[in-house]
Amino acid sequence: MTLSDTDPSELEFTDAERVFDGMGVSRGIAIGVVHRHDADAITVAEYCVPKGQVGAEKARFAAAVDRAGAEIGTMRTAAAGLDGSAAEELGYLLDAYQAMLHGSRLVRGVERRIETEHLNAEAAVNQEIADIARSFEAMEDAYLAARVVDIRDIGRRLLRSLTNTTYRPFSVLPRHAVIVAEELTPADTALLDPRRVAGLATVLGGAESHTAIMARSLGLPAVLGAAGLMRSVRPLQTVIVDGGAGRVIVNPSAATLTAYRKKRADYLRFRRTLARLKDVPAVTRDGARILLQANVELPGEVESVLAAGAEGVGLLRSEFLYMNRDDLPGEEEQTAVLTTLVQRMNGRPVTVRTLDVGGDKLARSLGVVPGPNPALGLRAVRLCLSRPELLETQLSAMLRASAFGPLRILVPMISTVEEIRAVREIMENVARRLSRAGIKIAEPMPPLGVMIEVPGAALAADALSWHADFFAIGTNDLTQYTLAIDRADESVAHLYNPLHPAVLRLIQFSAQAALRARIPVSVCGEVAGDPRFAALLLGLGIRDLSMSATNIPVVKQRIRSIDLVAATRRARVIMDQSDSARIAHLLDSFNEGEG
Ligand code: PEP
Ligand code: MG
Repeated sequence: MTLSDTDPSELEFTDAERVFDGMGVSRGIAIGVVHRHDADAITVAEYCVPKGQVGAEKARFAAAVDRAGAEIGTMRTAAAGLDGSAAEELGYLLDAYQAMLHGSRLVRGVERRIETEHLNAEAAVNQEIADIARSFEAMEDAYLAARVVDIRDIGRRLLRSLTNTTYRPFSVLPRHAVIVAEELTPADTALLDPRRVAGLATVLGGAESHTAIMARSLGLPAVLGAAGLMRSVRPLQTVIVDGGAGRVIVNPSAATLTAYRKKRADYLRFRRTLARLKDVPAVTRDGARILLQANVELPGEVESVLAAGAEGVGLLRSEFLYMNRDDLPGEEEQTAVLTTLVQRMNGRPVTVRTLDVGGDKLARSLGVVPGPNPALGLRAVRLCLSRPELLETQLSAMLRASAFGPLRILVPMISTVEEIRAVREIMENVARRLSRAGIKIAEPMPPLGVMIEVPGAALAADALSWHADFFAIGTNDLTQYTLAIDRADESVAHLYNPLHPAVLRLIQFSAQAALRARIPVSVCGEVAGDPRFAALLLGLGIRDLSMSATNIPVVKQRIRSIDLVAATRRARVIMDQSDSARIAHLLDSFNEGEG
């Protein structure tokens, strides 16, 4: 029995081959079987409660109601800390949730079902929610009818509380599973085990969303934005995901399957050829040495980072430590994870970024309630400075890990000089506390760097360069904020363009500020891992690129074919242009042989 928002009457099944086009966000071919991920579905047991245990069952339900109420209470407190209208809106919603949990029809209905039908509490909740949902959906008033979402949400909370489990999707998967979902959150993606999962395909999501980034890091072929997909797939159907072409083929014909098996073998051969580049240096034809480092989303990636020949970790997204859990990671836990990573990298530099939750990356353990516009809200460094204890714990762990190898600390979403100064002050205080306690940290202290990913930071790069020990240019957010395009929204994905002259000027401006201030500068957004952009980034003065480990070989191959003098000349021509299409043409023609 499941509680799900998917209406079975909307499903369209056919045994014929069906092709869905979307955005290919992670290359490779997956051939596997469908595993439908219905985010809202929770499977519950249904059984009869013996007469003598009805009281105990009701008490178990009451305890679950209390726990769910406490959870909402925590969210209410967090909501109160938000600005004006957001606090008010969320406050109303959470009050309504509380009301649904106390003496409401829902609670009374569940108790009655336990008492009279002798149903176990989980099944009683499920049935009661289904009944209430039906009456809501029948309402004429569209606003009230839409409240069915809230009813279901309360139902899910109660079920989770009753089953006493933190819901863990993907814990049971068929071999060669292809995850097919309406949408996958980065936290969901973090739970995918690449040894069992062959690929993924979703209806929603943008090419630079963190879900896409994680798919690339895990080396999983992925297509996002495949409209209509969820209406047409059944569990265990055969499915092909072509991550290069952005195509999903459900129930492929024998001929299609044969063609794709060959395509897959060709792709794997191509990857094996590239892997031979592991130990050769990334040097341009005219001898410029380029540093190629890896972005890491999950600690499990270290093996593939080393296998790809990465010269360091250029960006460790520390969010993984906070995902899929109800509590916060403490200093000891964080120190242990970071120390292991630094040791595994064996003398290669590791750049650890402080917490960057917000936007599409949420962590329920933080109790952060998304504001009206999460991408512009209390996220990343803003959140950390509003809750300095979070930052203190992270910085302390990073400083302690710095005793075991070269470590740099990077701060996301900086938009003002005051923010980086405030972080530095906290870091210095934490360092003093550690040294008073006799705990060893790196001497001198690890460099403290700034992510340039907000247009205002790029334009103020000169001033920021006086306060930062290095820059890391985050082109994913820089493009999103410069062009006002949500990077996770497939409906505007065609407008997302890092080759827009405004974005390129901000990259150039930031790189020049760093070069003038003689501080290191890298690019760690997704363009760094795309060989198409390599010549342009090099031409703009960038010598340090950090990317998903899977992309290192192909970028290295491109770099070894570039003449830096020619690339610099071409970058100059490109920077004189005002039209993205012309820029793309100038870059592509250079890539195709002129350089
Ligand atoms: C970026 O914004 O370019 C970046 C590297 O950070 P993230 O993708 O984690 O936001
Ligand atoms: Mg970013």
